[in-house]
Amino acid sequence: MKNLKNALLLKQLYLLKQLGYNYTSVTAFKEDEPDLTLPNTLEKLKKQALECHLCQLSKSRTHVVFGEGNISADIMFVGEAPGATEDTSGKPFVGRSGELLTNMIEKVLLIPRTEVYITNIVKCRPRDNAEPTPTEAHTCHPYLLKQIELIQPKIIVALGATAYHYLSGDDTAISKVRGTLHEQNGYILVPTYHPSYLLRNPSAKKDVFEDLKMVKEMMQDY
Ligand code: URA
Repeated sequence: MKNLKNALLLKQLYLLKQLGYNYTSVTAFKEDEPDLTLPNTLEKLKKQALECHLCQLSKSRTHVVFGEGNISADIMFVGEAPGATEDTSGKPFVGRSGELLTNMIEKVLLIPRTEVYITNIVKCRPRDNAEPTPTEAHTCHPYLLKQIELIQPKIIVALGATAYHYLSGDDTAISKVRGTLHEQNGYILVPTYHPSYLLRNPSAKKDVFEDLKMVKEMMQDY
């Protein structure tokens, strides 16, 4: 995949620069170029992600949290990054915010959680639950893009500002964009609040309820 190739190339160039090399020509990289394209099945993609060491989050993780759910799901949920419980279990959204997300899916969309696919912008836990840095998010992005390409969801619910930002490239505050629908790359992006925000601000639950009702209505067409 092009993004992954570029990330690896850039990493290599920074390393050479640190060693004192200056830019002259890129022809040296053209020969014997390793195959950096990402696999075309979720199983193989997961295997590759489990062995990933492209960013510093790999150093402190316990498990890579690749994602889980229906691999032919019409609806995908994308969060920010695994937390402590997810890092321990290797599964996305299994802590307190996961419990809330499961309730939202099962009580508003009226489908089991196993029917949707759930993943995150980055697949490894940032220390102290920090927001992933742009480098971490961009380095991990090819995995997410490939997951989307393979699953081909009709709707992606972006949980929180970070998910919305990296999926849309738009920096608008989540409070301004929630409640709106964005058609892009063959799916409809639905920005809404992150479940951990809802745990701190329960009064915003009604907004997420409205957003998920829109999702439920769109589901009637599938
Ligand atoms: N928060 C997230 O954004 N993702 C998880 O998997 C868990 C908590």
